[in-house]
Amino acid sequence: MIYFDNNSTTRVFESTVEAMRPFLTRDFANPASAIAQFGGVARAVSAQKSILAKSLRADEGAQFIITSGATESNNLALLGAARANPARRHVVVSSIEHPSVMEVADSLRADGYRLDILPVSPSGVVQASDLRHVLCPDTLLVSVMLANNETGAIQPLRELANTVKKYDPGILVHTDATQAVGKSPVDLSDELADIDLLSLSAHKFHGPKGVGALFIRDADSLAPILYGGGQQNRLRPGTENPASLVGMVAALSTILKSSAQLFEVGLLRDRLESGILALYADAYVLGASVTRLPTTLNICLPGVEAEHLVDHLAARGIAISAGSACSYGARKPSYVALAHGLGYEQARSCIRLSLSIESTEQEVDRFLCEFADAVGSSDPSMRNKQENA
Ligand code: PMP
Repeated sequence: MIYFDNNSTTRVFESTVEAMRPFLTRDFANPASAIAQFGGVARAVSAQKSILAKSLRADEGAQFIITSGATESNNLALLGAARANPARRHVVVSSIEHPSVMEVADSLRADGYRLDILPVSPSGVVQASDLRHVLCPDTLLVSVMLANNETGAIQPLRELANTVKKYDPGILVHTDATQAVGKSPVDLSDELADIDLLSLSAHKFHGPKGVGALFIRDADSLAPILYGGGQQNRLRPGTENPASLVGMVAALSTILKSSAQLFEVGLLRDRLESGILALYADAYVLGASVTRLPTTLNICLPGVEAEHLVDHLAARGIAISAGSACSYGARKPSYVALAHGLGYEQARSCIRLSLSIESTEQEVDRFLCEFADAVGSSDPSMRNKQENA
């Protein structure tokens, strides 16, 4: 199989599995139990959280709440902020957020909050001037992702957060860094020093599924959205899972040491991009002119029904996606592509190829052969009708 769907999920590193094993078999005690205090499981949990904080250059006083993944982290960030500060009734998100931010923002709107959805430029970037215009005295929170899951476009978070804090330091800035962690620098004491809340998920960087984290600069800025035991300072009750946490931190440590391989992936991505552009004259890349994750390529193939191409390649053992995996089968155009100003049919012609440090040159070359075969085929189901250009 050629696996070019790493923005959807990644293979767990062998070293990650090995790091997790003792916490599933030998050191399995409940971290909140007395035996765990004596046996070192509790110490291991707090040591792992410190490594996580150091890896992302977070301050000593900051907290990391371990969650079931970025969906939960994003829910806790937005809903927890709303609960902690009910006087503020205005929320701002970008138009290219993942559904785990967008749907939460929509639920707040249904509860009477005012919601502003920021547009993106044709290259897929949020503009600070658009943000400045919507801020209000009762704005609660601004949420803009660090890297988009469909195009890989990196958002100017330093500038955006700075704009917010200049207007009112009391407004919280949240970033969904799920796609950026491990593929692009995440530095909470420099570039992201004005960020209050940051979400991440282990399965996007070769860690296990079902574990993620929410960075919280100031614990008082959130109230819990789950109730139960007193774990994680009552912000996320429920028995902690040391094995998952250890797996997430081990994977993060490995990926953060892989900058040379990441550079090589960027070259492979460029080879893939120029190969497709050479084979399909009308193709164009979303976010071509902005800084993108080195792993990600989103390319529009006017006239091609992207989901049919995805199915055609899947039948040949090649995994790619049309839009994001979350919307597979919806036969709806990607709202991210629409937010870039693409028409309905063009948006249904976009494919996403996402590589990892495990991708190879041979895979890229074999992909290009299969791609040439597919788009050159006479299969009419591969074609869609383009609206007037
Ligand atoms: N945010 C982004 C940008 C994502 O790409 C994803 C995963 N597709 C999520 C959030 C949700 O992550 P999880 O699967 O860990 O809930």
